[in-house]
Amino acid sequence: MSGLTGKTALVTGASRGIGRSIAERLAAEGALVAVHYGSNEGAAKDVVNAIHTAGGRAFPVRAELGVDGDVDTLFTGLEEGLAGRPLDILVNNAGFIDYDATVDSVTHQQFERLFAVNVRAPLFITQRALTLMPDGGRIINISSGVTWFAIPEIVYAMTKGAINVFSRSLAHTQGVRGITVNTVSPGVTETDMNGWLSDRDAAKAIGDLTALGRPAKPADIGDAVAFFASEDARWISGQTLEVNGGLFLG
Ligand code: NDP
Repeated sequence: MSGLTGKTALVTGASRGIGRSIAERLAAEGALVAVHYGSNEGAAKDVVNAIHTAGGRAFPVRAELGVDGDVDTLFTGLEEGLAGRPLDILVNNAGFIDYDATVDSVTHQQFERLFAVNVRAPLFITQRALTLMPDGGRIINISSGVTWFAIPEIVYAMTKGAINVFSRSLAHTQGVRGITVNTVSPGVTETDMNGWLSDRDAAKAIGDLTALGRPAKPADIGDAVAFFASEDARWISGQTLEVNGGLFLG
């Protein structure tokens, strides 16, 4: 497929998990992909090498998010790799969960860190990206099903609720430029974030709650993101797509 030939994309948190899958799929469609990562340089290089081996184009960009200067660091590396090209597609995917940040025990520091990485960074990355993005660009934000089902990690869920609100209002303001903004909301996906899924009983329990009978693979999410990045999704904006295999349908 080559629907994104000539386009460029930034995928944050693309060194592992869902972000890796998004980066590989966008590159397979022909986009030049900036593979952003925080600290795991080896993993990011693996992704770039895999894309090159498959005949695609990609470059790594390092920037720890949630710290002072994070967006400047990211865009210095991004603009160097783009070498004067515009940025057509932004995927705000990087994020983390803090399993200790429950309502009973969360500290101010944990709260600030979760919001800095999961909410503040996507906002200011988007602000900068919009200066590089031509009319007709695409923004896809990665949220979570925890915006509509309850989990103990309440602050993480709150950050994803903020992403949903961000996406909707952003779609409204950017429509005048023909830029679409949509949200992909994964269910339970087999990534490092969910190490507990390596327990066979836990994976089965999730499968039992899912119409399609298993947790998601990262590619199940990456393919949905690629749709929103495509020309076929040109008339869709401000929407949230639950990509979860039919989780909690009854
Ligand atoms: P992983 O833990 O597998 O990968 C996280 C990625 O984000 C890595 O590339 C990591 O970089 C990067 N990252 C994390 N924190 C930072 C930071 N502070 N600065 C820079 N980069 C950072 O996560 P998933 O693939 O599971 O999750 C991807 C997105 O999907 C997240 O937004 C998550 O909330 C969301 N999501 C995940 C679900 C799941 O079940 N897995 C379900 C619903 C939503 P590095 O490799 O350098 O550490």
